[in-house]
Amino acid sequence: MGSFLFLALVAAAGVVWSCTTTRTPCIEFLDRTEAAEVFGSNAFWYLSLYRHAESVAKGGGLVNTDAHDFQQQMLLANSRCHDWKPSEIEVVQQTIREHRALQRAKWRLIKADDRVDFSYPYTIGDCVVLPANMLAAAGSSENRLSLAKTLLHEHVHIFQRQHPGLFDTLYNAWGFRRATRIDIPADHKERTVTNPDGLDAWVFSCPDGTFTMGLFLEGGKPVKKAFRVSGPDQKGAYVAVGDPIELREISQWLFGIEGCYHPHEVHAYLVSESAFGQ
Ligand SMILES: [Zn+2]
Repeated sequence: MGSFLFLALVAAAGVVWSCTTTRTPCIEFLDRTEAAEVFGSNAFWYLSLYRHAESVAKGGGLVNTDAHDFQQQMLLANSRCHDWKPSEIEVVQQTIREHRALQRAKWRLIKADDRVDFSYPYTIGDCVVLPANMLAAAGSSENRLSLAKTLLHEHVHIFQRQHPGLFDTLYNAWGFRRATRIDIPADHKERTVTNPDGLDAWVFSCPDGTFTMGLFLEGGKPVKKAFRVSGPDQKGAYVAVGDPIELREISQWLFGIEGCYHPHEVHAYLVSESAFGQ
């Protein structure tokens, strides 16, 4: 019993050691059963925000367009994760070993079905979700750099989630203000796409005005748009006014970044680009 305890302590010490050295990054590759448990946990609470159109679009053909239980079907679609191939594990390990910015993080990685969530990478809880096609393409050094950028971007999102409010002052300096509520026209509300990495509401002020920004479905695909808003009222709520504009029309006020419609996205983009951008 004593020797068993000693061996257990040595093994445990080995795990800690392996997570704190750059030679052996700490990476957990979740199999499909473990990944399904993550989607079945409270970490997927934001599923309750999904509307029918979003579930059908994100379900990639796995959610019935007539379904009344579309959130339950979406849960099943998200839970259809894949086991990792040895070659994919190797390419991820190699990518993380190659970059100092990635080596000291603890990674919990899920391999997702390409059909689901527009094949976007994102985070849930403390896990990074990577679409299978990104892993399949990661063999070349160019694509490994892209994978490295994605991993750091997603790691920033996990850090943001674990430290809510930590970056608010920074986001304020960029022109963002928290909103208790933002009302947008009903037709767009029904076509809203939920970003798991940017769930809280913000408005953005720039010389062109104050805007709410987001993703909305058009032809089943997510499109980035902005609405001018009025407000806030005494409770900190805003109301969208007029027709939406393309996000790029105001991107000059956001470091010229066209794709970022939430301060968490701007933050993650800037960190990743400054670490890996040329
Ligand atoms: Zn992101």
